[in-house]
Amino acid sequence: MARTRPLKILLLGKNGQIGWELQRSLAPLGAVTALDRFGQDGLCGDISNMDGLRHTIDTVKPDILVNAAAYTAVDKAEDEPELAIRLNTEAPVVMAKAMQALGGCLVHYSTDYVFDGSGTTPWKEADEVRPLSVYGASKMAAEFAIQETGCHHLIFRTSWVYASRGNNFAKTMLRLAKERDTLNVINDQIGAPTGADLIADVTAHALRQWQQKPQTAGLYHLAASGETSWHQYASFVIHWAQKAGIPLAVESVNTIPSEDYPVPAERPKNSRLDCRLMESTFGLQLPKWQQGVERMLQEITNKEVL
Ligand code: NDP
Repeated sequence: MARTRPLKILLLGKNGQIGWELQRSLAPLGAVTALDRFGQDGLCGDISNMDGLRHTIDTVKPDILVNAAAYTAVDKAEDEPELAIRLNTEAPVVMAKAMQALGGCLVHYSTDYVFDGSGTTPWKEADEVRPLSVYGASKMAAEFAIQETGCHHLIFRTSWVYASRGNNFAKTMLRLAKERDTLNVINDQIGAPTGADLIADVTAHALRQWQQKPQTAGLYHLAASGETSWHQYASFVIHWAQKAGIPLAVESVNTIPSEDYPVPAERPKNSRLDCRLMESTFGLQLPKWQQGVERMLQEITNKEVL
């Protein structure tokens, strides 16, 4: 039977890119208890503390647990796999088991890094996963483990997340473009920059639908539409800044292959996500990536003026 009463929601990782936006988007759905790693009111928000985590969930007894907390330092994860696995795999399993016992729903975020990046076709949900990095493997293991517990879940695989708050690729490009006359940017990794605000809004919408139709639970791809390379993304940002009259030193933005920018964790070259299942299940149309990036640029450059 459809349930429409206000929900009791527990949000973990409230100050991350997505967590911050979820505080806003989840608010109209019900009573939200939002925690960061430091917790509050005797509730533990540190997802490395499994007993504390169980105690928090048992105390709040949420209808929905939204997990926006994670180990997201992709390169560092190569050096500390235990911690990455603890936060990205073991903690979500604790959450899933606790939510299974409560009969509630776990919302969890995963990544394009579960794929090996081969080919040029956008990845579908059921495609074979083969992560190239510790981070990707830790996220993949959580997807499998959450599904195995049998709890209601919404797992959203997303990509190239940015937010106005905190650091992001566009801000770095703008800063470098003010300091240097030449930039070298990778052009052989293709994906879609996706705003944390979009992810948070879609999450709230999907949860409303899930309340009415629990059969919508599952794993979905969620990214802005269209595709770009990091080089095209950087060029878009710089072109926008030039049109906005922001003084820049940069004269050329060169393309380089991934091999010329070595990092500890290998990234997938093909990060395209096919989001048609998400769009058809939830009656949504995901906007073009440029739309959200322009909005973010407007926000961050307005802040600079102030
Ligand atoms: P952020 O790094 O912005 O946020 C992660 C949050 O997790 C931070 O607030 C961090 O807190 C918190 N956190 C870290 N360790 C702990 C801990 N031990 N206990 C409690 N909280 C902790 O990440 P995003 O918002 O970008 O990512 C959210 C989700 O989306 C993650 O699951 C990520 O894997 C996924 N994702 C992200 C992508 C991206 O490009 N960023 C791409 C694809 C998927 P603190 O600030 O205190 O460190």
